[in-house]
Amino acid sequence: MAGSTTIVESNYVPVPRSTGSEPCRTNPDAFFPEDYNDTKELRAAKQACGGCNLKEWCLLWGLANATGLAKNGVIGGTTPKERKAFDKRLHQRLSEEEIARRFKRQYEALTRKGLAQ
Ligand code: SF4
Repeated sequence: MAGSTTIVESNYVPVPRSTGSEPCRTNPDAFFPEDYNDTKELRAAKQACGGCNLKEWCLLWGLANATGLAKNGVIGGTTPKERKAFDKRLHQRLSEEEIARRFKRQYEALTRKGLAQ
């Protein structure tokens, strides 16, 4: 069924392990703006993600959980709308099983590079 399957919690892309020093931990409000349009605040949050050590893992987790746990906030440099649109495109093209396989492969690739644990 296109665009409506929810991956509630991806167990093939675990939640990124925070050290507590990531920008979204030290200034969480900045990652949950009132306005997700292209505001100065939103751009600042996205830019902060760009300099974060967890950005690849966080983005993958956010995309894998776009309609579940990651449906709010700036995550891995993306807005909820961007993640939801990505999720919709994925589900239009691929089965849930294939999506799971691809996320799992991406996560394994990140762990091999030392970008996820
Ligand atoms: S990439 Fe993820 S962990 Fe890093 S600041 Fe952005 S939302 Fe936080």
